Parts: sequence; structure tokens; C-alpha cells
Amino acid sequence: MAMLTDNPTAAALLDAVPCYPVPLHGRSPAIDALRAARGGHGLAIGKDGVMLILRRPWLALDVPLTPRIAAHLPYGNAGAPKADLRCGLIPREHLDQILDHFRAALPNEDAAFILWNEVTCEFAVHLPVIDEASPSRLVYRAPVLDPDWHLVCDIHSHGAGRAFFSATDDVDDAHTTKISLVFGNLDRPEAPTTASRLCAGGMFLPLPRSPFSGDDHAA
Ligand SMILES: [Zn+2]
Repeated sequence: MAMLTDNPTAAALLDAVPCYPVPLHGRSPAIDALRAARGGHGLAIGKDGVMLILRRPWLALDVPLTPRIAAHLPYGNAGAPKADLRCGLIPREHLDQILDHFRAALPNEDAAFILWNEVTCEFAVHLPVIDEASPSRLVYRAPVLDPDWHLVCDIHSHGAGRAFFSATDDVDDAHTTKISLVFGNLDRPEAPTTASRLCAGGMFLPLPRSPFSGDDHAA
């Protein structure tokens, strides 16, 4: 078979993000390895479309990037989409602690992170250094992670304002793989408003369900 490229830089980039056709019958060891990997991402091309397979120690994401391919191809199916938390559901009390912290910061916005340790499987709340906070603006520093720790959730409040993803949030979320959550209307006695998304591969994807234990509805 001819080489894909004779440029070493291009070859390294293609190696880092491999692209495999799905065999018509049977399994693909290469695609199985991509799905089983601790981290990384690549593409599987099936007759049902192109699928991004992305792995982090805490996340197993298979997301279709294209519709079904109309042309006749001797390929099998890439399969059903999924977004599984390999780390399991986040204990509900971590969210309760963060919401208490957000309410204490009113009228200002505030932020918190949920981290996960892939060796001990424990979750932890990280409250970042806040450089600047007001009711409509927040500047904070992402955590510097110790080995084995991963950022799973990036959570911020909009104080008394409603929850939504602003243009600033979109810029902040573009280059990290994480769950991003916003809570708003925290000044009211009733449940806060929420906005949620999974940030991966430069895309913003809907969360199929709440990442917290004890919630059986979407975040
Ligand atoms: Zn925001």
C-alpha cells in the first residue's frame, strides 16, 4: 500500500489522529484499540457516517460528525453515539457545596472546578484563585493539575443573572475537553437556572444526562 505522506511532520500528525474505515464484517483491532485507549482521538469511517472517537481517562465519547454516507461503500457501521463518564457520576454533595459557595459570593459571579483522580477514583472540588469578580464579570485561573488528576467539570455562576453560555464562555471553552456548567438566578429561593454542555474536539455537545449522582434528569 502506498504511504499516505512522505512528509514526517504530516505523518506524525496523521499518526496522532488516525482515521480507519470500518470493516464490513467483523471487528477492527485498530478501532477497538482507539476505543480502549486511555486518551487520544481518531476517526472511524462507516457507511453510517464519520465518527469521532475521543478518549480521556474520565470520558469515553463516540460522536457522529457527518450524516450517513450516501455512496456505496464496502464498509460496516461505526455504531451508536455515546458519551460515558468513565469516572462514574460525580457525588451530588460536591455540587451542593459549590452552589452554597456561589450563593455566598452573591452578588458577584464565581467559579469552581470538579477534579477526578484516575488512580484513587476520588473526586475533589477546586475553588480557583479569582483575579476579578463582579455581578457581570469574572476572571479566574484554571487549576494547575497534579499528576493523575483531571479536570472533569468547569462550573461558574452568573450570580443573579440567568444561566447561558456567553461569547466569552465560548472562547474559554473552545480548547479543553470538559463538562461546562453555568448556574444563574442564584438570588432566588427556587432552583437556579442552568446551562450545560460537553466541550470536546472543539465542539459543544449536549449532555445526554446530568453528570451528578441523584439526578435522573438532564443537567
Ligand atoms: Zn458565563
